[in-house]
Amino acid sequence: MAPRVLVVGSVNMDLIVRCRRVPNEGETVHGEGLVTAGGGKGANQAVAASRLGALTSIVGRVGEDEFGPRMRAALEADRVNTEELHTDRGAPSGVALILLEEGGRNRIVVMSGANGRVGEEEVEAARRLLARSDVVMLQLEIPRWVVAKVAEEARQQGVPSLLDAGAATPAAAELVGLVDILSPNEHEAETLSGIAVREAGGAAAAAARLREMGSREVVIKLGAAGAYWSGGGGDGHVPGFEIEAVDTTAAGDAFTACLAVSIASGLPMPEAVRRANAAGALACLKLGAQPSMPTLAELEEFLRARR
Ligand code: ADP
Repeated sequence: MAPRVLVVGSVNMDLIVRCRRVPNEGETVHGEGLVTAGGGKGANQAVAASRLGALTSIVGRVGEDEFGPRMRAALEADRVNTEELHTDRGAPSGVALILLEEGGRNRIVVMSGANGRVGEEEVEAARRLLARSDVVMLQLEIPRWVVAKVAEEARQQGVPSLLDAGAATPAAAELVGLVDILSPNEHEAETLSGIAVREAGGAAAAAARLREMGSREVVIKLGAAGAYWSGGGGDGHVPGFEIEAVDTTAAGDAFTACLAVSIASGLPMPEAVRRANAAGALACLKLGAQPSMPTLAELEEFLRARR
């Protein structure tokens, strides 16, 4: 049976402009080609999980503006259940302004809008949906207390929770002990653990520290280098795949979603991380967040070609 994934998180409209290089303070540079695409870590991960074959539901909020219905329709087109995606009449939809530099590097400003008002109503919805979920995915783009409550509820219901630590601040460390699987990138792992990941042995030391802080499994995303995992079944570095990155936006979302789907499908950690690396690499090959999330067929084809 297909794994059932619940996402409680953010939904944004991404406004993307490409430029040769990003401007310095007080400087104006010329951009090219506006792309508007569905984004927000919650929505990205929901789309990714669904394309990877999971029965996926999202709990969150959009605004009552032109972006809200567009984002809902985009999620539904990807077969994400949006019954508990609420419309907030008092806030704009979340928007991310993304400057994309040649070579794939980006700078992002997020205006959280309705995502910042996710609250009790969504906790209630999550409680109901957890009863029919195999894993719940959380991120840090909605109020932290909501993430904490959903993680606690998941633990009570015996549903594994996975936190993507995107844009973590030191305050997010309070969540580390509440979730079963923590997935930060290098920078976030350092923010949460206080240990520099880039130094030799840094990933192992940071993962060990994060496990001491209470997370059962830790998977640190290392960009082109792949990922380092540490948990009950062991630990190790799983190298990334060699590709020519076009846009690394949402590589982490593809990675985390694939990790969640793979774990919910019962795969052992090294294999789950290898597949997650492939999903992350595939997401680097196309522009935009949701447009670049790979399908299960694309993932299998990529893995077959590189066996
Ligand atoms: P985030 O997007 O959260 O900052 P990373 O940049 O570490 O996280 O990317 C997430 C995952 O995507 C990596 O762990 C890796 O599997 C894959 N990935 C990212 N960048 C590349 C790249 N340039 N080449 C190959 N794989 C990549």
